[in-house]
Amino acid sequence: MRKQIAAANWKMNLTLQQGEQLLDAILAKTTSLKEDQQVVFAVPFPYLAAAQQKIAGKQNIFIAAQNVYSKKSGAYTGEVSVEMLNSLQIPFVVLGHSERREYFNETNQQLAEKLNIALAHNITPIFCCGEPLSVREAETQNDYVAQQLEESLYHLSEEQIQKIVIAYEPIWAIGTGKTASSAQAEEMHAFIRLQLEDKYGKEIADNITILYGGSVKASNAKELFSQPDVDGGLVGGASLITDEFVAIIQALK
Ligand code: PEP
Repeated sequence: MRKQIAAANWKMNLTLQQGEQLLDAILAKTTSLKEDQQVVFAVPFPYLAAAQQKIAGKQNIFIAAQNVYSKKSGAYTGEVSVEMLNSLQIPFVVLGHSERREYFNETNQQLAEKLNIALAHNITPIFCCGEPLSVREAETQNDYVAQQLEESLYHLSEEQIQKIVIAYEPIWAIGTGKTASSAQAEEMHAFIRLQLEDKYGKEIADNITILYGGSVKASNAKELFSQPDVDGGLVGGASLITDEFVAIIQALK
């Protein structure tokens, strides 16, 4: 059975002290998770070690990095490597968030390299894809997302593809307060799963967790997560508010 995941993306928000308070408050209110449910906190690099300590011993709760570099080590000032994440035992990394694609010019090809190095170091990528508003308005979102999958994922082996999590995040819904309707989310998730099925077969496609991201809140999480192909969410703004994120965790299937 595929995992249901509530993933918080803190982005470049909060001081260390604020982050620690938020984590403490969410952890205190998070009752036991089902075996197939997971909660992931993608925190800024400087907070990884402190966050990792806070969740030590908690079942099905994990810390993620928000990015990683595609090279193993060396003269890449300001970058963070998979070996560094391994040394902190960080099990997840968010890759290809639309903000990284937009502001840091990350391409599908560069993301393919980042996926390779993360997987080679046993770090689970949460691979983000999703179309901008102009593409949605032109109704070509399926082709757009299919190309993202093809160029970043389809070189992966059957074994590797099963180790990734996909997050579908329509850019027009990120941080805008506009959420895709549950029907729009389900339509794209089912499309993504079908693409994966065509490439890797049904059994593998059925096992891949596909998260929805884009203004997920306590008030819409249950409806979104109840869709058959929506396996939880990647959550920005609402993950910074204790009761909102706790309710989103509780909305997992
Ligand atoms: C995100 O950061 O991935 C995101 C979906 O943000 P928000 O929930 O604020 O739209």
